[in-house]
Amino acid sequence: MAPLVMATGRFAPSPTGDLHVGNLRTALVAWLAARAGGGRFLVRMEDLDPMVARAEFEAQQLHDLAAIGLDWDGEVVNQSSRMELYQAAISSLDARGLVYPCFCSRKEIQDAVRAPNGSAPSPEGAYPGTCADLSTLQRSQRARSGGGRPAALRLRSSGEVVTVTDGLHGQYSAVVDDLVLRRHDGMPAYNLAVVVDDGDQGVQQVVRADDLLASTPRQAYLAGLLGLPPMSYLHIPLVLGPMGQRLAKRDGAITLADRLMLGESAVDVRSALAASLGMCAPGERPTLSELVATFSVMVDAGTLPRTPWVFPG
Ligand code: GLU
Repeated sequence: MAPLVMATGRFAPSPTGDLHVGNLRTALVAWLAARAGGGRFLVRMEDLDPMVARAEFEAQQLHDLAAIGLDWDGEVVNQSSRMELYQAAISSLDARGLVYPCFCSRKEIQDAVRAPNGSAPSPEGAYPGTCADLSTLQRSQRARSGGGRPAALRLRSSGEVVTVTDGLHGQYSAVVDDLVLRRHDGMPAYNLAVVVDDGDQGVQQVVRADDLLASTPRQAYLAGLLGLPPMSYLHIPLVLGPMGQRLAKRDGAITLADRLMLGESAVDVRSALAASLGMCAPGERPTLSELVATFSVMVDAGTLPRTPWVFPG
């Protein structure tokens, strides 16, 4: 892994539920990576989905981050209050001929997926380009047959293979498809919002769970188109439930509140996360400054874990 540098980092949860130990572990690593390099650490609420994002979850998430000792610089930013920024980015791409309306339903896309070019994988759900070259007449026909459902907007990509370098996963390449910029419901798409925000907020280091690694070449490509500087990436292996599946409520006491109910303290929980990262022995209670020092040593030695942590429950 590259040596630590002073870089602005961030944690960007979606306020759609309580943070579980996997989210808290990612937040801890993001915080350590920023603080160990002497950098700023930001928290951003990715609350663009009005059906599921809730202010109560947001307050609880911030409370839980603070409870395990994580602090952040400046105000927490909410994506829902930044619509003009996303629209401005879409307009700038549109002015360059890089945006087109897409009328496809999810089902139509699944049915039409073409094999990827070359050996690099297409990210799951990659768009096969159905609406890329419609004539004006075809567009209005498609719009009518969609029953008035508004079109999504997609990026006209060149279908190239983009490689990103990740601190844990090394080089990762994928074909960049015509990703969604604005969804059918008019909301900015995740990839667009994240890239615009990271650029606008001066984020230099993205630390997040490695289920998002597959989207990272798309984001790096989009950032390049928007003239944003390259980012450093660290994708942390997921925390899995005992059967090796994605951690979920059925796996027991997975939130901080659950753990407190069992009689653990917030420091106990943070220490268990640190132990899962190989930063201390189980049962030890390192301080935050000890964790910062240990993190620096582990980065230099390249010993951060590269495999998922199976949550013991
Ligand atoms: N909001 C995303 C999530 O909660 C994370 C996005 C990111 O870190 O880029 O999974």
